[in-house]
Amino acid sequence: MSSSRTITAKGLAASRGTAAGPVYIYRGDGELPAPEYVVPPGREQEELRRLENAYCDAKRDLEGLIAILKERTGRSDVRVFECHLMILEDSALGEETQGYILDGRLNAEAAVRKTAAGARAQFDRMNDPYFRERVRDLDDVERRLLKALMGRDRRPRIELRAPSIIVADDLAPSETVQLPREYVLGFATDGGSPTSHVSLLARALGIPAVCGLRNLASIVAPGDTIVLDGDDGSVTVNPGEAELAAAMAKRSAAEKAPPRAAERGGIPVRLCANLHPGIPVDSIFEYGAAGVGLYRSEYLWLDKETEPSEEEQFKAYSEVAKAAAKLGGGASATIRLLDIGGDKLVRGISSRESNPFLGNRSIRWLLSHRETLRAQMRAVLRASAAGPVRMMYPMVSCVEELDECAAELENVKRDMERRGERFDPAMPAGAMIEVPAAAICASEMARKAAFFSIGTNDLVQYTMAADRGNEAVAHLYQPLNRAVLKLVKNTIAAAKDAGIQVGVCGESAADPVAGVLWAAFGVNELSMSVTYLPVMSRFLHGLDAGALAEYAAVPDSMPPGSTGTEIYAACKAWLQNRLPAMKGLFPG
Ligand code: PEP
Ligand code: MG
Repeated sequence: MSSSRTITAKGLAASRGTAAGPVYIYRGDGELPAPEYVVPPGREQEELRRLENAYCDAKRDLEGLIAILKERTGRSDVRVFECHLMILEDSALGEETQGYILDGRLNAEAAVRKTAAGARAQFDRMNDPYFRERVRDLDDVERRLLKALMGRDRRPRIELRAPSIIVADDLAPSETVQLPREYVLGFATDGGSPTSHVSLLARALGIPAVCGLRNLASIVAPGDTIVLDGDDGSVTVNPGEAELAAAMAKRSAAEKAPPRAAERGGIPVRLCANLHPGIPVDSIFEYGAAGVGLYRSEYLWLDKETEPSEEEQFKAYSEVAKAAAKLGGGASATIRLLDIGGDKLVRGISSRESNPFLGNRSIRWLLSHRETLRAQMRAVLRASAAGPVRMMYPMVSCVEELDECAAELENVKRDMERRGERFDPAMPAGAMIEVPAAAICASEMARKAAFFSIGTNDLVQYTMAADRGNEAVAHLYQPLNRAVLKLVKNTIAAAKDAGIQVGVCGESAADPVAGVLWAAFGVNELSMSVTYLPVMSRFLHGLDAGALAEYAAVPDSMPPGSTGTEIYAACKAWLQNRLPAMKGLFPG
Protein backbone atom coordinates (compact mmCIF):
# COMPACT_ATOMS: atom_id res chain seq x y z
CA MET A 1 0.00 0.00 0.00
CA SER A 2 1.04 3.61 -0.45
CA SER A 3 3.48 4.96 2.10
CA SER A 4 2.55 8.57 1.22
CA ARG A 5 6.14 9.50 2.07
CA THR A 6 7.63 12.02 -0.37
CA ILE A 7 10.69 10.55 -2.11
CA THR A 8 12.72 12.18 -4.84
CA ALA A 9 14.81 10.12 -7.21
CA LYS A 10 17.19 11.26 -9.93
CA GLY A 11 17.58 9.27 -13.10
CA LEU A 12 18.38 10.11 -16.70
CA ALA A 13 16.12 12.24 -18.88
CA ALA A 14 14.92 9.90 -21.62
CA SER A 15 11.95 11.60 -23.28
CA ARG A 16 10.81 15.19 -22.84
CA GLY A 17 7.75 16.33 -21.01
CA THR A 18 6.16 16.31 -17.57
CA ALA A 19 3.64 13.78 -16.34
CA ALA A 20 1.83 13.24 -13.07
CA GLY A 21 -0.43 10.37 -12.03
CA PRO A 22 -0.87 7.16 -10.10
CA VAL A 23 1.81 4.50 -10.19
CA TYR A 24 1.36 1.24 -12.07
CA ILE A 25 4.11 -1.20 -11.21
CA TYR A 26 4.76 -3.39 -14.21
CA ARG A 27 6.62 -6.59 -13.40
CA GLY A 28 6.37 -8.24 -16.81
CA ASP A 29 5.55 -11.92 -16.84
CA GLY A 30 8.67 -13.08 -15.04
CA GLU A 31 10.55 -16.28 -15.78
CA LEU A 32 9.14 -18.42 -18.57
CA PRO A 33 9.33 -22.04 -17.43
CA ALA A 34 9.81 -23.64 -20.83
CA PRO A 35 9.60 -27.44 -20.98
CA GLU A 36 12.74 -29.41 -21.73
CA TYR A 37 12.70 -33.00 -22.95
CA VAL A 38 14.26 -35.45 -25.38
CA VAL A 39 12.33 -35.84 -28.62
CA PRO A 40 11.42 -39.49 -29.25
CA PRO A 41 13.17 -40.98 -32.32
CA GLY A 42 11.32 -40.23 -35.55
CA ARG A 43 9.52 -37.15 -34.14
CA GLU A 44 12.28 -34.67 -35.07
CA GLN A 45 10.51 -33.44 -38.22
CA GLU A 46 7.38 -32.70 -36.23
CA GLU A 47 9.46 -30.69 -33.77
CA LEU A 48 11.02 -28.78 -36.67
CA ARG A 49 7.54 -27.92 -37.93
CA ARG A 50 6.58 -26.57 -34.49
CA LEU A 51 9.70 -24.44 -34.61
CA GLU A 52 8.90 -23.20 -38.09
CA ASN A 53 5.34 -22.26 -37.05
CA ALA A 54 6.70 -20.37 -34.05
CA TYR A 55 9.07 -18.46 -36.34
CA CYS A 56 6.14 -17.53 -38.60
CA ASP A 57 4.07 -16.35 -35.60
CA ALA A 58 6.98 -14.33 -34.23
CA LYS A 59 7.60 -12.74 -37.63
CA ARG A 60 3.93 -11.84 -37.96
CA ASP A 61 4.01 -10.32 -34.47
CA LEU A 62 7.00 -8.18 -35.30
CA GLU A 63 5.48 -7.01 -38.56
CA GLY A 64 2.34 -6.15 -36.57
CA LEU A 65 4.39 -4.16 -34.07
CA ILE A 66 6.07 -2.26 -36.90
CA ALA A 67 2.63 -1.42 -38.29
CA ILE A 68 1.38 -0.28 -34.84
CA LEU A 69 4.41 1.92 -34.38
CA LYS A 70 4.06 3.46 -37.82
CA GLU A 71 0.42 4.19 -37.16
CA ARG A 72 0.96 5.63 -33.68
CA THR A 73 3.94 7.78 -34.49
CA GLY A 74 3.14 8.63 -38.09
CA ARG A 75 6.79 7.82 -38.81
CA SER A 76 8.80 4.81 -39.72
CA ASP A 77 10.93 4.87 -36.57
CA VAL A 78 10.87 1.13 -36.36
CA ARG A 79 14.47 0.09 -36.33
CA VAL A 80 14.14 -1.65 -32.97
CA PHE A 81 11.87 -4.23 -34.51
CA GLU A 82 13.89 -4.32 -37.70
CA CYS A 83 16.71 -5.40 -35.46
CA HIS A 84 14.51 -8.11 -33.93
CA LEU A 85 13.59 -9.34 -37.39
CA MET A 86 17.29 -9.49 -38.25
CA ILE A 87 17.92 -11.68 -35.20
CA LEU A 88 14.93 -13.86 -36.04
CA GLU A 89 16.06 -14.29 -39.62
CA ASP A 90 19.72 -14.83 -38.82
CA SER A 91 20.44 -18.03 -40.73
CA ALA A 92 23.33 -19.11 -38.48
CA LEU A 93 21.15 -18.94 -35.37
CA GLY A 94 18.29 -20.71 -37.16
CA GLU A 95 20.54 -23.55 -38.35
CA GLU A 96 22.02 -23.93 -34.88
CA THR A 97 18.55 -24.37 -33.38
CA GLN A 98 17.56 -26.91 -36.02
CA GLY A 99 20.81 -28.76 -35.31
CA TYR A 100 19.92 -29.10 -31.62
CA ILE A 101 16.61 -30.67 -32.64
CA LEU A 102 17.93 -32.97 -35.37
CA ASP A 103 21.24 -34.03 -33.85
CA GLY A 104 20.71 -33.42 -30.16
CA ARG A 105 17.01 -34.48 -30.19
CA LEU A 106 16.12 -31.51 -28.02
CA ASN A 107 12.54 -30.24 -28.05
CA ALA A 108 12.07 -26.91 -29.84
CA GLU A 109 11.80 -24.81 -26.64
CA ALA A 110 15.05 -26.23 -25.27
CA ALA A 111 16.76 -25.79 -28.64
CA VAL A 112 15.72 -22.10 -28.80
CA ARG A 113 16.98 -21.60 -25.22
CA LYS A 114 20.31 -23.25 -25.99
CA THR A 115 20.91 -21.18 -29.13
CA ALA A 116 20.00 -17.96 -27.32
CA ALA A 117 22.26 -18.86 -24.38
CA GLY A 118 25.17 -19.42 -26.75
CA ALA A 119 24.65 -16.10 -28.55
CA ARG A 120 24.25 -14.29 -25.22
CA ALA A 121 27.51 -15.74 -23.94
CA GLN A 122 29.26 -14.54 -27.08
CA PHE A 123 27.84 -11.02 -26.72
CA ASP A 124 28.72 -10.97 -23.01
CA ARG A 125 32.31 -11.90 -23.75
CA MET A 126 32.59 -8.88 -26.02
CA ASN A 127 31.85 -6.66 -23.02
CA ASP A 128 30.70 -3.92 -25.35
CA PRO A 129 27.72 -1.67 -24.54
CA TYR A 130 26.47 -1.95 -28.10
CA PHE A 131 26.28 -5.71 -27.78
CA ARG A 132 24.75 -5.45 -24.32
CA GLU A 133 21.83 -3.68 -25.97
CA ARG A 134 21.74 -6.51 -28.55
CA VAL A 135 21.44 -9.01 -25.67
CA ARG A 136 18.24 -7.26 -24.64
CA ASP A 137 16.95 -7.63 -28.20
CA LEU A 138 17.95 -11.28 -28.21
CA ASP A 139 16.05 -11.82 -24.92
CA ASP A 140 12.97 -10.20 -26.43
CA VAL A 141 13.11 -12.42 -29.53
CA GLU A 142 13.80 -15.57 -27.49
CA ARG A 143 10.79 -14.86 -25.27
CA ARG A 144 8.57 -14.26 -28.27
CA LEU A 145 9.60 -17.58 -29.84
CA LEU A 146 9.13 -19.49 -26.57
CA LYS A 147 5.68 -18.01 -26.02
CA ALA A 148 4.73 -18.89 -29.60
CA LEU A 149 5.92 -22.48 -29.05
CA MET A 150 4.02 -22.77 -25.78
CA GLY A 151 0.86 -21.19 -27.18
CA ARG A 152 1.09 -18.34 -24.66
CA ASP A 153 -0.33 -14.86 -25.22
CA ARG A 154 2.51 -12.79 -26.61
CA ARG A 155 1.05 -9.45 -25.56
CA PRO A 156 2.27 -7.91 -22.28
CA ARG A 157 0.16 -8.86 -19.27
CA ILE A 158 -1.09 -5.59 -17.92
CA GLU A 159 -4.36 -4.45 -16.45
CA LEU A 160 -4.39 -0.71 -16.74
CA ARG A 161 -7.74 0.78 -15.86
CA ALA A 162 -6.72 4.42 -15.45
CA PRO A 163 -4.07 6.68 -16.95
CA SER A 164 -0.90 5.88 -15.00
CA ILE A 165 2.85 6.24 -14.81
CA ILE A 166 4.42 2.89 -15.61
CA VAL A 167 7.21 1.99 -13.20
CA ALA A 168 9.29 -1.03 -14.16
CA ASP A 169 12.71 -2.56 -13.67
CA ASP A 170 13.02 -2.33 -17.40
CA LEU A 171 10.77 -2.61 -20.40
CA ALA A 172 11.33 -4.60 -23.54
CA PRO A 173 10.78 -2.62 -26.75
CA SER A 174 7.73 -4.73 -27.60
CA GLU A 175 6.21 -4.06 -24.18
CA THR A 176 6.77 -0.31 -24.60
CA VAL A 177 4.87 -0.25 -27.86
CA GLN A 178 2.07 -2.61 -26.88
CA LEU A 179 0.98 -0.94 -23.65
CA PRO A 180 -2.31 0.89 -24.22
CA ARG A 181 -1.18 4.39 -25.19
CA GLU A 182 -4.26 6.14 -23.79
CA TYR A 183 -3.43 4.84 -20.30
CA VAL A 184 0.29 5.51 -20.33
CA LEU A 185 1.18 8.94 -18.94
CA GLY A 186 4.89 8.26 -18.62
CA PHE A 187 7.61 5.67 -18.05
CA ALA A 188 9.97 5.46 -15.09
CA THR A 189 12.43 2.58 -15.40
CA ASP A 190 15.27 1.44 -13.19
CA GLY A 191 17.41 0.31 -16.12
CA GLY A 192 18.05 1.69 -19.60
CA SER A 193 19.74 4.81 -20.87
CA PRO A 194 18.56 7.83 -22.90
CA THR A 195 19.63 6.15 -26.10
CA SER A 196 18.41 2.65 -25.39
CA HIS A 197 15.60 1.40 -27.55
CA VAL A 198 12.91 1.99 -24.96
CA SER A 199 13.88 5.67 -24.67
CA LEU A 200 13.89 6.07 -28.45
CA LEU A 201 10.44 4.53 -28.62
CA ALA A 202 9.11 6.73 -25.81
CA ARG A 203 10.35 9.78 -27.72
CA ALA A 204 8.81 8.52 -30.96
CA LEU A 205 5.50 7.99 -29.14
CA GLY A 206 5.73 11.39 -27.39
CA ILE A 207 5.59 9.84 -23.89
CA PRO A 208 7.65 11.50 -21.13
CA ALA A 209 10.21 9.08 -19.69
CA VAL A 210 12.97 8.86 -17.11
CA CYS A 211 15.33 5.88 -17.06
CA GLY A 212 18.30 4.68 -14.99
CA LEU A 213 16.44 5.15 -11.69
CA ARG A 214 18.15 2.06 -10.20
CA ASN A 215 15.64 0.97 -7.52
CA LEU A 216 12.44 2.96 -7.90
CA ALA A 217 10.38 -0.12 -8.73
CA SER A 218 11.16 -1.61 -5.33
CA ILE A 219 10.41 1.63 -3.43
CA VAL A 220 7.03 2.63 -4.85
CA ALA A 221 3.78 0.92 -3.97
CA PRO A 222 0.34 0.77 -5.58
CA GLY A 223 -1.57 3.88 -4.55
CA ASP A 224 1.47 6.16 -4.76
CA THR A 225 1.41 9.20 -7.03
CA ILE A 226 4.38 10.23 -9.15
CA VAL A 227 5.52 13.42 -10.84
CA LEU A 228 7.95 12.62 -13.60
CA ASP A 229 10.08 15.19 -15.41
CA GLY A 230 11.48 13.87 -18.68
CA ASP A 231 13.53 17.05 -19.17
CA ASP A 232 15.65 16.84 -16.05
CA GLY A 233 15.34 13.13 -15.26
CA SER A 234 13.74 13.58 -11.85
CA VAL A 235 10.93 11.66 -10.28
CA THR A 236 9.02 12.64 -7.14
CA VAL A 237 6.92 10.02 -5.41
CA ASN A 238 3.94 11.37 -3.47
CA PRO A 239 4.70 15.04 -4.16
CA GLY A 240 3.32 17.83 -2.03
CA GLU A 241 0.65 20.11 -3.44
CA ALA A 242 3.19 22.77 -4.41
CA GLU A 243 5.31 20.29 -6.39
CA LEU A 244 2.26 18.95 -8.15
CA ALA A 245 1.15 22.47 -9.07
CA ALA A 246 4.66 23.36 -10.32
CA ALA A 247 4.68 20.27 -12.54
CA MET A 248 1.33 21.18 -14.01
CA ALA A 249 2.46 24.78 -14.60
CA LYS A 250 5.58 23.55 -16.41
CA ARG A 251 3.46 21.33 -18.58
CA SER A 252 1.11 24.07 -19.63
CA ALA A 253 4.00 26.53 -20.22
CA ALA A 254 5.54 24.09 -22.69
CA GLU A 255 2.22 23.58 -24.41
CA LYS A 256 1.73 27.32 -24.79
CA ALA A 257 4.97 27.86 -26.71
CA PRO A 258 4.28 29.86 -29.88
CA PRO A 259 3.79 27.75 -32.97
CA ARG A 260 5.88 29.91 -35.28
CA ALA A 261 9.45 29.00 -34.49
CA ALA A 262 11.60 30.96 -36.83
CA GLU A 263 10.69 34.38 -38.04
CA ARG A 264 13.53 34.63 -40.47
CA GLY A 265 15.73 37.65 -39.93
CA GLY A 266 14.36 38.31 -36.42
CA ILE A 267 16.88 36.02 -34.76
CA PRO A 268 20.56 35.50 -35.54
CA VAL A 269 20.31 31.81 -36.31
CA ARG A 270 18.10 29.75 -38.62
CA LEU A 271 16.01 27.17 -36.80
CA CYS A 272 15.65 24.14 -39.03
CA ALA A 273 14.09 20.71 -38.92
CA ASN A 274 15.61 17.26 -38.61
CA LEU A 275 13.42 14.98 -40.71
CA HIS A 276 13.55 11.51 -42.04
CA PRO A 277 11.33 9.48 -44.36
CA GLY A 278 8.14 8.78 -42.47
CA ILE A 279 7.88 12.16 -40.73
CA PRO A 280 5.36 14.30 -42.62
CA VAL A 281 7.34 16.92 -44.53
CA ASP A 282 4.52 19.42 -43.96
CA SER A 283 5.45 19.55 -40.28
CA ILE A 284 8.07 22.14 -41.26
CA PHE A 285 5.26 24.57 -42.12
CA GLU A 286 3.28 23.74 -39.00
CA TYR A 287 6.25 24.42 -36.72
CA GLY A 288 7.70 27.30 -38.71
CA ALA A 289 11.06 25.70 -39.55
CA ALA A 290 13.42 27.80 -41.66
CA GLY A 291 14.50 24.79 -43.71
CA VAL A 292 15.56 21.18 -43.35
CA GLY A 293 18.96 21.02 -41.69
CA LEU A 294 19.19 17.24 -41.65
CA TYR A 295 17.27 14.69 -43.69
CA ARG A 296 18.29 11.23 -42.46
CA SER A 297 18.09 9.35 -45.75
CA GLU A 298 19.06 6.02 -44.14
CA TYR A 299 15.48 5.56 -43.00
CA LEU A 300 14.69 4.64 -46.60
CA TRP A 301 16.92 1.61 -46.05
CA LEU A 302 16.07 0.77 -42.46
CA ASP A 303 12.67 -0.83 -42.88
CA LYS A 304 13.26 -2.48 -46.22
CA GLU A 305 14.05 -5.93 -47.50
CA THR A 306 16.04 -4.48 -50.39
CA GLU A 307 17.84 -1.23 -51.16
CA PRO A 308 15.53 1.58 -52.25
CA SER A 309 15.73 2.28 -55.97
CA GLU A 310 17.07 5.56 -57.33
CA GLU A 311 13.50 6.42 -58.32
CA GLU A 312 12.18 5.83 -54.82
CA GLN A 313 14.94 7.97 -53.38
CA PHE A 314 14.32 10.70 -55.93
CA LYS A 315 10.66 10.79 -54.96
CA ALA A 316 11.46 11.20 -51.26
CA TYR A 317 14.22 13.79 -51.76
CA SER A 318 12.25 15.87 -54.24
CA GLU A 319 9.32 16.06 -51.81
CA VAL A 320 11.65 17.70 -49.28
CA ALA A 321 13.23 19.88 -51.97
CA LYS A 322 9.81 21.15 -53.06
CA ALA A 323 8.88 21.92 -49.45
CA ALA A 324 12.10 23.96 -49.08
CA ALA A 325 11.24 25.83 -52.29
CA LYS A 326 7.79 26.58 -50.88
CA LEU A 327 9.34 27.94 -47.66
CA GLY A 328 11.50 30.35 -49.63
CA GLY A 329 13.63 32.91 -47.79
CA GLY A 330 16.88 31.05 -48.53
CA ALA A 331 15.56 27.76 -47.13
CA SER A 332 17.16 24.56 -48.30
CA ALA A 333 16.75 20.82 -47.88
CA THR A 334 19.92 19.19 -46.57
CA ILE A 335 19.90 15.55 -47.65
CA ARG A 336 22.43 13.49 -45.74
CA LEU A 337 23.82 10.53 -47.63
CA LEU A 338 23.30 7.05 -46.22
CA ASP A 339 24.52 6.97 -42.62
CA ILE A 340 24.41 3.28 -41.76
CA GLY A 341 26.52 1.32 -39.32
CA GLY A 342 27.01 1.81 -35.61
CA ASP A 343 23.56 1.19 -34.18
CA LYS A 344 21.81 1.66 -37.52
CA LEU A 345 21.85 -1.82 -38.95
CA VAL A 346 20.39 -2.67 -42.33
CA ARG A 347 19.44 -6.18 -43.26
CA GLY A 348 21.48 -7.55 -46.13
CA ILE A 349 23.96 -4.67 -45.92
CA SER A 350 25.34 -4.48 -42.40
CA SER A 351 28.05 -6.98 -41.69
CA ARG A 352 29.00 -8.17 -38.24
CA GLU A 353 31.88 -6.14 -36.96
CA SER A 354 33.45 -6.43 -33.55
CA ASN A 355 33.46 -2.66 -33.13
CA PRO A 356 30.72 -1.26 -35.40
CA PHE A 357 30.95 2.35 -34.18
CA LEU A 358 34.52 2.43 -35.47
CA GLY A 359 33.85 0.22 -38.44
CA ASN A 360 32.93 0.44 -42.09
CA ARG A 361 30.05 2.83 -41.66
CA SER A 362 28.52 5.93 -43.26
CA ILE A 363 30.71 7.58 -45.89
CA ARG A 364 33.32 4.83 -45.51
CA TRP A 365 30.73 2.24 -46.45
CA LEU A 366 29.48 4.34 -49.37
CA LEU A 367 32.98 4.83 -50.72
CA SER A 368 33.42 1.07 -50.69
CA HIS A 369 30.02 0.53 -52.37
CA ARG A 370 30.22 2.88 -55.33
CA GLU A 371 27.03 1.75 -57.07
CA THR A 372 24.95 2.72 -54.05
CA LEU A 373 26.87 5.98 -53.70
CA ARG A 374 26.38 6.92 -57.35
CA ALA A 375 22.68 6.04 -57.30
CA GLN A 376 22.14 8.17 -54.22
CA MET A 377 24.13 11.08 -55.65
CA ARG A 378 22.05 10.91 -58.83
CA ALA A 379 18.80 10.89 -56.85
CA VAL A 380 19.87 13.89 -54.76
CA LEU A 381 21.08 15.80 -57.84
CA ARG A 382 17.84 15.12 -59.68
CA ALA A 383 15.91 16.42 -56.65
CA SER A 384 18.00 19.61 -56.77
CA ALA A 385 16.09 20.51 -59.94
CA ALA A 386 12.87 20.54 -57.91
CA GLY A 387 14.04 22.87 -55.14
CA PRO A 388 17.07 24.11 -53.19
CA VAL A 389 19.02 21.04 -52.06
CA ARG A 390 22.29 20.58 -50.20
CA MET A 391 24.05 17.21 -50.13
CA MET A 392 25.73 16.23 -46.89
CA TYR A 393 28.41 13.59 -46.28
CA PRO A 394 28.11 11.72 -42.95
CA MET A 395 30.96 10.72 -40.59
CA VAL A 396 33.77 12.28 -42.59
CA SER A 397 37.15 11.64 -40.90
CA CYS A 398 39.70 13.13 -43.31
CA VAL A 399 40.12 15.30 -46.42
CA GLU A 400 40.81 12.29 -48.64
CA GLU A 401 37.23 11.20 -48.17
CA LEU A 402 35.99 14.63 -49.26
CA ASP A 403 38.28 14.48 -52.30
CA GLU A 404 36.95 11.06 -53.25
CA CYS A 405 33.35 12.23 -52.81
CA ALA A 406 33.99 15.33 -54.92
CA ALA A 407 35.53 13.25 -57.71
CA GLU A 408 32.61 10.82 -57.68
CA LEU A 409 30.11 13.70 -57.67
CA GLU A 410 31.83 15.17 -60.72
CA ASN A 411 31.59 11.82 -62.53
CA VAL A 412 27.91 11.55 -61.74
CA LYS A 413 27.26 15.12 -62.90
CA ARG A 414 29.10 14.57 -66.19
CA ASP A 415 27.09 11.41 -66.77
CA MET A 416 23.84 13.21 -66.09
CA GLU A 417 24.80 16.07 -68.39
CA ARG A 418 25.50 13.59 -71.18
CA ARG A 419 22.07 12.13 -70.67
CA GLY A 420 20.46 15.57 -70.56
CA GLU A 421 19.14 15.12 -67.02
CA ARG A 422 18.29 18.25 -65.08
CA PHE A 423 20.02 19.19 -61.85
CA ASP A 424 21.43 22.23 -60.05
CA PRO A 425 25.11 22.36 -61.06
CA ALA A 426 25.85 24.60 -58.06
CA MET A 427 24.26 22.28 -55.48
CA PRO A 428 26.37 22.70 -52.31
CA ALA A 429 28.02 19.54 -50.96
CA GLY A 430 29.00 19.77 -47.30
CA ALA A 431 30.32 17.64 -44.48
CA MET A 432 29.06 16.55 -41.12
CA ILE A 433 31.63 17.25 -38.47
CA GLU A 434 31.14 14.48 -35.96
CA VAL A 435 34.52 12.79 -35.78
CA PRO A 436 37.13 14.56 -33.61
CA ALA A 437 39.76 14.27 -36.39
CA ALA A 438 37.51 16.29 -38.71
CA ALA A 439 36.87 18.94 -36.05
CA ILE A 440 40.59 19.27 -35.29
CA CYS A 441 41.43 19.63 -38.99
CA ALA A 442 38.32 21.74 -39.68
CA SER A 443 40.28 24.44 -41.52
CA GLU A 444 41.55 21.88 -44.05
CA MET A 445 38.08 20.38 -44.33
CA ALA A 446 36.56 23.82 -44.86
CA ARG A 447 38.53 24.24 -48.10
CA LYS A 448 36.79 21.19 -49.52
CA ALA A 449 33.26 21.50 -48.12
CA ALA A 450 30.54 23.96 -49.07
CA PHE A 451 29.16 23.93 -45.49
CA PHE A 452 29.52 22.17 -42.16
CA SER A 453 26.95 20.64 -39.89
CA ILE A 454 28.23 19.60 -36.48
CA GLY A 455 26.79 16.26 -35.36
CA THR A 456 27.19 16.55 -31.63
CA ASN A 457 25.60 13.16 -30.93
CA ASP A 458 28.59 11.40 -32.39
CA LEU A 459 31.13 14.15 -31.76
CA VAL A 460 30.52 13.96 -28.00
CA GLN A 461 30.65 10.18 -27.90
CA TYR A 462 33.84 9.94 -29.94
CA THR A 463 35.55 12.82 -28.14
CA MET A 464 34.74 11.51 -24.67
CA ALA A 465 35.04 7.85 -25.74
CA ALA A 466 31.69 7.40 -24.02
CA ASP A 467 28.97 5.45 -25.81
CA ARG A 468 25.77 7.47 -25.74
CA GLY A 469 23.86 4.24 -25.07
CA ASN A 470 25.78 3.15 -22.01
CA GLU A 471 24.31 4.16 -18.68
CA ALA A 472 27.56 3.32 -16.88
CA VAL A 473 29.39 6.10 -18.73
CA ALA A 474 26.49 8.55 -19.09
CA HIS A 475 28.27 10.90 -16.69
CA LEU A 476 31.07 11.24 -19.27
CA TYR A 477 28.72 12.01 -22.12
CA GLN A 478 29.08 15.78 -21.65
CA PRO A 479 28.17 18.06 -24.57
CA LEU A 480 29.73 21.02 -22.74
CA ASN A 481 32.97 19.35 -21.71
CA ARG A 482 35.89 21.66 -22.51
CA ALA A 483 37.24 19.17 -25.06
CA VAL A 484 33.95 19.24 -26.96
CA LEU A 485 33.71 23.02 -26.69
CA LYS A 486 37.21 23.40 -28.16
CA LEU A 487 36.29 21.20 -31.11
CA VAL A 488 33.00 23.02 -31.72
CA LYS A 489 34.70 26.41 -31.53
CA ASN A 490 37.51 25.28 -33.82
CA THR A 491 34.97 24.07 -36.35
CA ILE A 492 32.99 27.32 -36.24
CA ALA A 493 36.15 29.44 -36.54
CA ALA A 494 37.36 27.39 -39.51
CA ALA A 495 34.00 27.78 -41.23
CA LYS A 496 34.00 31.55 -40.66
CA ASP A 497 37.57 31.88 -42.00
CA ALA A 498 36.63 29.95 -45.11
CA GLY A 499 33.36 31.86 -45.50
CA ILE A 500 31.14 28.78 -45.32
CA GLN A 501 27.97 28.19 -43.28
CA VAL A 502 28.06 26.08 -40.14
CA GLY A 503 25.22 24.55 -38.14
CA VAL A 504 24.58 22.00 -35.42
CA CYS A 505 22.18 19.12 -36.02
CA GLY A 506 22.83 16.82 -33.04
CA GLU A 507 20.38 16.50 -30.13
CA SER A 508 22.25 19.22 -28.22
CA ALA A 509 20.83 21.78 -30.69
CA ALA A 510 17.42 21.23 -29.08
CA ASP A 511 18.66 21.65 -25.52
CA PRO A 512 18.22 25.37 -24.67
CA VAL A 513 21.41 25.48 -22.57
CA ALA A 514 23.63 23.95 -25.27
CA GLY A 515 21.69 25.17 -28.33
CA VAL A 516 21.79 28.81 -27.25
CA LEU A 517 25.51 28.40 -26.55
CA TRP A 518 26.12 27.15 -30.10
CA ALA A 519 24.16 30.15 -31.37
CA ALA A 520 26.25 32.42 -29.15
CA PHE A 521 29.44 30.83 -30.54
CA GLY A 522 28.22 31.90 -33.98
CA VAL A 523 26.59 28.98 -35.76
CA ASN A 524 24.28 29.97 -38.60
CA GLU A 525 21.82 27.16 -38.04
CA LEU A 526 20.38 24.87 -35.36
CA SER A 527 18.52 21.85 -36.61
CA MET A 528 16.29 19.64 -34.43
CA SER A 529 13.08 17.63 -34.27
CA VAL A 530 10.28 20.03 -35.18
CA THR A 531 8.53 19.73 -31.82
CA TYR A 532 11.53 21.36 -30.11
CA LEU A 533 11.50 24.41 -32.38
CA PRO A 534 8.92 26.52 -30.50
CA VAL A 535 10.81 26.36 -27.20
CA MET A 536 14.19 27.10 -28.80
CA SER A 537 12.66 30.00 -30.67
CA ARG A 538 11.41 31.51 -27.41
CA PHE A 539 14.86 31.29 -25.88
CA LEU A 540 16.58 32.93 -28.83
CA HIS A 541 13.98 35.66 -29.12
CA GLY A 542 14.67 36.53 -25.49
CA LEU A 543 18.34 37.38 -26.08
CA ASP A 544 19.92 40.17 -28.13
CA ALA A 545 23.42 40.16 -29.64
CA GLY A 546 24.97 41.66 -26.49
CA ALA A 547 23.42 39.01 -24.26
CA LEU A 548 24.56 36.26 -26.61
CA ALA A 549 28.14 37.58 -26.46
CA GLU A 550 27.99 37.54 -22.65
CA TYR A 551 26.59 34.02 -22.68
CA ALA A 552 29.32 32.82 -25.05
CA ALA A 553 31.91 33.89 -22.46
CA VAL A 554 30.39 31.87 -19.59
CA PRO A 555 32.37 28.62 -20.18
CA ASP A 556 35.70 30.49 -20.32
CA SER A 557 34.84 32.37 -17.14
CA MET A 558 34.79 29.07 -15.26
CA PRO A 559 37.91 28.16 -13.24
CA PRO A 560 40.43 25.87 -14.92
CA GLY A 561 39.57 22.25 -14.29
CA SER A 562 35.80 22.82 -14.33
CA THR A 563 33.97 19.74 -15.50
CA GLY A 564 31.47 19.59 -18.36
CA THR A 565 28.74 19.19 -15.78
CA GLU A 566 29.86 22.33 -13.92
CA ILE A 567 30.06 24.33 -17.14
CA TYR A 568 26.59 23.16 -18.08
CA ALA A 569 25.26 24.16 -14.65
CA ALA A 570 26.89 27.61 -14.91
CA CYS A 571 25.43 28.20 -18.37
CA LYS A 572 22.02 27.10 -17.19
CA ALA A 573 22.18 29.37 -14.15
CA TRP A 574 23.16 32.32 -16.38
CA LEU A 575 20.22 31.67 -18.72
CA GLN A 576 17.76 31.16 -15.87
CA ASN A 577 18.85 34.42 -14.36
CA ARG A 578 18.55 36.26 -17.71
CA LEU A 579 15.29 34.64 -18.77
CA PRO A 580 13.25 34.11 -15.59
CA ALA A 581 10.02 33.89 -17.60
CA MET A 582 11.28 30.65 -19.17
CA LYS A 583 11.52 28.98 -15.78
CA GLY A 584 9.40 25.99 -16.68
CA LEU A 585 11.16 25.26 -19.96
CA PHE A 586 14.63 24.37 -18.72
CA PRO A 587 15.97 20.85 -18.76
CA GLY A 588 17.29 19.46 -15.45
C1 PEP B 1 24.89 13.37 -34.86
O1 PEP B 1 25.75 12.47 -34.77
O2 PEP B 1 24.87 14.37 -34.11
C2 PEP B 1 23.83 13.28 -35.88
C3 PEP B 1 22.99 14.26 -36.09
O3 PEP B 1 23.75 12.12 -36.57
P1 PEP B 1 23.00 10.80 -36.04
O4 PEP B 1 22.37 11.11 -34.71
O5 PEP B 1 22.02 10.44 -37.09
O6 PEP B 1 24.14 9.84 -35.91
MG1 MG C 1 25.96 11.00 -36.38
